[in-house]
Amino acid sequence: MTRAAPSPTLLWFRLDLRLSDHPALARAIAGGGPVIPIFIWSPDEEAHAGPGAASRWWLHHSLTALQARLRDVGSRLVIREGPILPAVCKLVDETGADAIVMTRRHEESWRALDDDVTEAMRGRGKATHIVPGSLLFEPDELHSRAGGPFRVFTPFWKAGLARGVSHRPIAAPDAIPAPSTWPTSLPIEALNLLPHIAWDAGLRRTFTPGEAAARLRLQRFLRSDRGADGSPVGIDGYASGRDLPGVDGTSQLSPHLHFGEISVAEVWDAVDADGGASSEHRTTFRKELFWREFAHHLLHHFPHTVTEPLRESFRAFPWADAPGHLSAWQRGETGYPLVDAGMRQLWQIGWMHNRVRMVVASFLTKHLLLPWRSGAAWFWDTLCDADLANNTLGWQWVAGSGADAAPYFRIFHPVAQGERFDARGAYVRRWLPELARLPDRWIHAPWTAPSQVLAEAGIKLDKTYPAPIIDHSWARQRALSAYASISAAARDANAAAKQRGPARQPR
Ligand code: FAD
Repeated sequence: MTRAAPSPTLLWFRLDLRLSDHPALARAIAGGGPVIPIFIWSPDEEAHAGPGAASRWWLHHSLTALQARLRDVGSRLVIREGPILPAVCKLVDETGADAIVMTRRHEESWRALDDDVTEAMRGRGKATHIVPGSLLFEPDELHSRAGGPFRVFTPFWKAGLARGVSHRPIAAPDAIPAPSTWPTSLPIEALNLLPHIAWDAGLRRTFTPGEAAARLRLQRFLRSDRGADGSPVGIDGYASGRDLPGVDGTSQLSPHLHFGEISVAEVWDAVDADGGASSEHRTTFRKELFWREFAHHLLHHFPHTVTEPLRESFRAFPWADAPGHLSAWQRGETGYPLVDAGMRQLWQIGWMHNRVRMVVASFLTKHLLLPWRSGAAWFWDTLCDADLANNTLGWQWVAGSGADAAPYFRIFHPVAQGERFDARGAYVRRWLPELARLPDRWIHAPWTAPSQVLAEAGIKLDKTYPAPIIDHSWARQRALSAYASISAAARDANAAAKQRGPARQPR
């Protein structure tokens, strides 16, 4: 008697475009039958909004790299277009698969999609396995002493450390069992992810999407070279270097982590194993990885924060409506060099330094009083690491409306921030070449330079570089008054609630 060949398992790749430390892949192989890797492109069903232009660029190249990796281990990537549910069902029916395995996604719309897929599989008598694999802790694994979600970072971090990271990375398989016949696949080009106008030169120069490049970037960061001034860059200088946008002081792993080309557990483990860096630097870096965990924790427990403030009082915030200011900010033409350099870096390479993200976000929401959602939407389209959890946390944090947010009255002064974190103007000169010849003393406030200095540097204010679109002190006062108005309204509402007494229990 011959035994029936085992049915295949579908391995559904989403934001986990790698083979190393891939628990869902390990689970699919453990099933014992052939494994059919699939990818379904369905941007309209994505959480909140489909990937922006920079993310699509990244995805195209990341899928290309994944396809090559799969070929190396005797497998393929089967690409289809959505809608997701019928596409999955069709693949199950075509291949006779008896199970589907995927890494858990945490956005609300994906959770709903996964429920639909599980239901449809159950209806066919097939199994669904949704496997953790993109975080150190699943969002419901850590909870506050009261048993609820965390809203403040430090207790979250302490709870995570107390629990300990137990997962050890799994090696990539040498081979993935292939089916005897492969279902048809679209070519990656059919997804139309690349730009029609070639604006991607800066991205190409800066990044190489894919698992191998992610690992190289991690190794480079852990190697810790010396910068031009002899100071350590990479992990050995991280605690201080991470705040200096003009030096190579951070890992730039964010797009790789977002697309799951390297697992956060592998990064955590590598930092742990690296004995060269002092513990201060390693701890600071690990804390940043925990901010990513915290962002996912918040997105899981407060999914409405993608569009709504976490702090109720901010619903009544008197945001301004100034489309001219929004487009000056987007183009990097506010007249404040650190803000403009950040926005030009974003436009050119699809990434911006964290310190500068905070400064430009503060400038938009506090100086210009424009809604954080406008800024988040621009970041969503232009960042190649655009990530719903991190972007939502970042914007709400800066705007003052989110969890553990910066106090509203903390309004970054774009000139002081420049003088402190880009003292010699290296960052500003790199992204604003029109200011390159301005001496250090005026590099962060060109409008204060004497006319002769400007002339010698080849700068004509409002011709070659804009004068500030808003006065800092005036804007600061306006922002503080706006905040005072919602604080007063919140106090009045609280007082009224107290006067009414405790809410009556419904009978
Ligand atoms: P490193 O300093 O090397 O840190 C290592 C990793 O830790 C990062 O790759 C990232 O995954 C994580 N991390 C670091 N800082 C944070 C943070 N503050 N919050 C959450 N995770 C963090 N990050 C994104 O990945 N996608 C976004 O869409 C995004 N939008 C942001 C918007 C605003 C307004 C702000 C203030 C921050 C945003 N961040 C976002 C967080 C942070 O700026 C980036 O993760 C970081 O700059 C990426 O650079 P890196 O990889 O060199 O970071």
